[in-house]
Amino acid sequence: MAVRACGLIIYRRLQSPPPSKVADGIEYLLLQTSYGTHHWTPPKGHVDPGEDDLQTAFRETQEEAGLQASQLTLIEGYKRELHYPAHGKPKTVIYWLAEVKDCNTEIKLSEEHQAFQWLKLEDACKFAEYEDMKQTLKEVHQFLCSKE
Ligand code: AMP
Repeated sequence: MAVRACGLIIYRRLQSPPPSKVADGIEYLLLQTSYGTHHWTPPKGHVDPGEDDLQTAFRETQEEAGLQASQLTLIEGYKRELHYPAHGKPKTVIYWLAEVKDCNTEIKLSEEHQAFQWLKLEDACKFAEYEDMKQTLKEVHQFLCSKE
């Protein structure tokens, strides 16, 4: 059976972008792992017994980025599942999408990560080295732009 993990793709909107460039004011949060090849990823982690997937996504975001559920707005209508092999086992990761209410909210890392960045779509796609994650970020951006 696949290892199951859940997380949140977190974004913020920079204050007062020019009205024609609202989408340019969006930045995505990526964390750099302190393990393995130090790849960049949204916050996510394994589902604990008795927990539902969305609870896991919020708990992991709190543990890994220091963001409480009350500091976030879950965006309805977006959910994406990724499948990849991790450490020789199939892994499923389910992501929801959430906006940080205050774009200046402090990020507090756990020991699992060594750095974080808020990145515009193009840079986020460069740091997210895996093709499925790049596609997910592009899809999220389209989704947000279509809601403008
Ligand atoms: P993670 O799931 O981010 O904890 O990473 C576990 C392992 O899977 C690491 O070796 C990563 O480099 C690799 N990995 C992470 N994300 C992806 C992905 N989207 N596609 C393929 N491999 C990945």
